[in-house]
Amino acid sequence: MKNISIVIPLLNEEESIPELIEWIERVMNENHYSYEIIIVDDGSTDNSWEIITKLNAQNPDIKGVRFRRNYGKSAALNEGFSKAQGEVVITMDADLQDSPDEIPDLYKMIREDGYDLVSGWKKVRHDNTITKNLPSKLYNMVNRKLSGLKLHDMNCGLKAYNLEVVKNIEVYGEMHRYIPVLAKNVGFKKIGEKVVQHRARKYGKTKFGLERFVNGFLDLLTLTFVGRFSKKPMHFFGVWGVLFFFLGFCASLSIGIHKLWVLYHGGHAPLVTSSPYFYLAILCMILGVQLFLAGFLGELISRESRDRNLYSVKEVIGL
Ligand code: UDP
Ligand code: MG
Repeated sequence: MKNISIVIPLLNEEESIPELIEWIERVMNENHYSYEIIIVDDGSTDNSWEIITKLNAQNPDIKGVRFRRNYGKSAALNEGFSKAQGEVVITMDADLQDSPDEIPDLYKMIREDGYDLVSGWKKVRHDNTITKNLPSKLYNMVNRKLSGLKLHDMNCGLKAYNLEVVKNIEVYGEMHRYIPVLAKNVGFKKIGEKVVQHRARKYGKTKFGLERFVNGFLDLLTLTFVGRFSKKPMHFFGVWGVLFFFLGFCASLSIGIHKLWVLYHGGHAPLVTSSPYFYLAILCMILGVQLFLAGFLGELISRESRDRNLYSVKEVIGL
């Protein structure tokens, strides 16, 4: 078994690859690690794949997977994870913004200090744009609140994992921003961070625009929700459904009783439909039924997919 698998997702980074790989090889050799480098070409349209092929011819520990088209960083990481075989898996960006010199310390934190996952923290950033630094701070604050993980830089490309972690999570959609949350949801507890150097992008330009904030936030909501309620949707929808229905029911009842009461005493009772309360009461009842149904359908769906990776086994004995 190799000591380290390095997984590198890559989209059009032809200028950076040779320099990055040379640097990684240097660090690996200096520290006498056995390693493999898995480069996942996420549908590059430049010469990246030709370069990867050449690198593999020189050093068979450099391996490549090429996607038929651009599927996104999450898909690339997921593919790399499925192929990785090393005791420790390290992910890093291909654009030379992450420094391979951090690898030995990250490796030790996993192997010696027993961390399941260590996330890099770009304490000093070199993106030099207000559109990146400030939103990123805010973003991480919201992340900390919602996810309950005390990480300063959840979306750092440089991370280290115990092999078991990457084999037990599925990085889909744009979930690469929340891998620590994915790991936590599966049940990995020792999740830490390490301050890492961050460098300015030397070649090419960033592949992510402003839309990442909207998508990222929606993904976080999905994740928090899935983590808490995916196995018991009724606990969320059911509670609100019953509550709304009960409220609406009581309100309609009291409107009806009030009308009868007035009529009984010979007064003049206006039509119930002329009161806004009537509509609010009905709205509440309809909402209640809808929510309840959503929970019920959720339960049925989660029952169907129970055998599909909703839990993760840690150990087995006597089987
Ligand atoms: N990347 C990828 N697929 C994509 C977009 C990006 O594999 O669809 C890779 C990219 O080549 C780089 C890493 O993901 O290695 C991080 O991308 P980038 O540097 O553009 O992000 P930033 O550092 O600006 O957040
Ligand atoms: Mg970058």
